[in-house]
Amino acid sequence: DHEPGWAEVDAFLDEAMGLEDQVLRDVREATAAADLPPIEVSAAQARFLALLCRMIGARRVLEFGTLGGYSAASVARALGDDGEVVTLEIDPRHAEVARANFRRAGVADRVEVLVGPASESARALIDTGTEPFDMVSIDADKPGNPGYVELALQLTRPGSVIVVDNVVRHGAVADAGSDDPGVLGSREVLTLLGGHPRLDATALQTVGAKGWDGFAVARVR
Ligand code: SAM
Repeated sequence: DHEPGWAEVDAFLDEAMGLEDQVLRDVREATAAADLPPIEVSAAQARFLALLCRMIGARRVLEFGTLGGYSAASVARALGDDGEVVTLEIDPRHAEVARANFRRAGVADRVEVLVGPASESARALIDTGTEPFDMVSIDADKPGNPGYVELALQLTRPGSVIVVDNVVRHGAVADAGSDDPGVLGSREVLTLLGGHPRLDATALQTVGAKGWDGFAVARVR
């Protein structure tokens, strides 16, 4: 699904705008060298998440789906010295690679990786009465998305922002007959975001190095 040009334009934007610095490049390369799949966000998306945090003055960020810590490292570097990122990852090996990357990126002191199913870790955060998060980025297993949004609503405050990645899935999201669990999860989460009394939301399609996809963004009322 990679139209000629999409990846080239992402590479151009990265170079022209200096989106991926040496620190993030090292994180991405160490993740690939550890044989984790290359499914982290693009450099442009990582910068977008970091900017979003700065725009809303975020101090505490929650992430569903760590992988090698590329997006979490980008966000952590955008927060102030008192910033905190909690990132949830089911695969202990991914968590281990991510922790090494956080040390590499100089943000290990402000990033905590919780290993286990994201729904269980999020539930534990709710149960311990953790302080609300200012930004939540949802990028784990896609069938889990509707549940992750419900959990995120219990971990945020009015004004917090929730981002859900990969909601377009090469256009498959528009296929009402799809039985793909990821597509079903995306369709359901978009309906949930659009109709939820505590959320104002939209979704945007994207093309680029990662093909044709998109993300949803919502603000908690
Ligand atoms: N946000 C990362 C980035 O941009 O660098 C990419 C995350 S990757 C797309 C999805 C991650 O979610 C994988 O590392 C996968 O192991 C993890 N994952 C899958 N199912 C999960 C679950 N039920 N709970 C927590 N993490 C899960």
